[in-house]
Amino acid sequence: MRLLFIGPPGAGKGTQAGKVAARLGIPHISTGDMFRDHVARGTDLGRKVEAIMAAGDYVPDEVTVAMLVERIGQDDAATGYILDGFPRTAAQVKSLDGIIGAHGLDQVVVFEVDEDELTERLLSRGRTDDTEETIRNRFRMYQEQTQPLIDLYADRGLTVAVDGMGDVEEVTERILEVVS
Ligand code: ADP
Repeated sequence: MRLLFIGPPGAGKGTQAGKVAARLGIPHISTGDMFRDHVARGTDLGRKVEAIMAAGDYVPDEVTVAMLVERIGQDDAATGYILDGFPRTAAQVKSLDGIIGAHGLDQVVVFEVDEDELTERLLSRGRTDDTEETIRNRFRMYQEQTQPLIDLYADRGLTVAVDGMGDVEEVTERILEVVS
C-alpha cells in the first residue's frame, strides 16, 4: 500500500502519518523529518537546507528527490509506505511518477482543516520554523506550489478528503476508514 498525505502546514499530516503507518505496518516517510534529522546531525545536506527551512522556502527539487529516491529504495519500503510532505511540487510529482509510475500510489489523503486552527496549531508547536513570518511564507508556498497537486491527483481518481479537525484519535480512525 502506497499512500500520500497532503495538506497545508499544521494540518496534522505528520502526526497522523506516524499513527496510520504503525497501524498498517508500513514506514512513514517524511521529507521534513529527514531534513530536520540532517540539520540536527550537522551533515552536509543539513547545512545546505537549514536556512531554506528556517525561511519556510522549499528545498530545491533535485536535493529533495535524491534523498527520497534513496529512502524508498530501502528494504522496509518494499511493501509500501506513507509519504508525508513529498511530492510538494509538480516537478516532484514527475520524479515520483518516473520511479513508481503514474499509477504507483493507491490513495492520496487530503487533509481539510480550517485556517485559524492551522495557525494556532503551528504557533503552539514551537518548531524553529513556526514563527509568524515563516508560517506566512510556508502557507504561500503551499498555496502556490502544492495545492495544485490535489487537482492533479483528483484527475487520476486517487484523492480522498479527510476532516482533520477534532481529536487526534478520531482523525486517525477517519483515515483508517477511507484507506482500507
Ligand atoms: P509542514 O508540513 O508543517 O510545513 P514539513 O516537516 O513537511 O512541515 O516540512 C518542513 C520544511 O522542510 C518545509 O517548509 C521545507 O523547507 C522542507 N521540505 C520538506 N519536504 C519538502 C519537499 N518535498 N520539497 C521541498 N522542501 C521540503
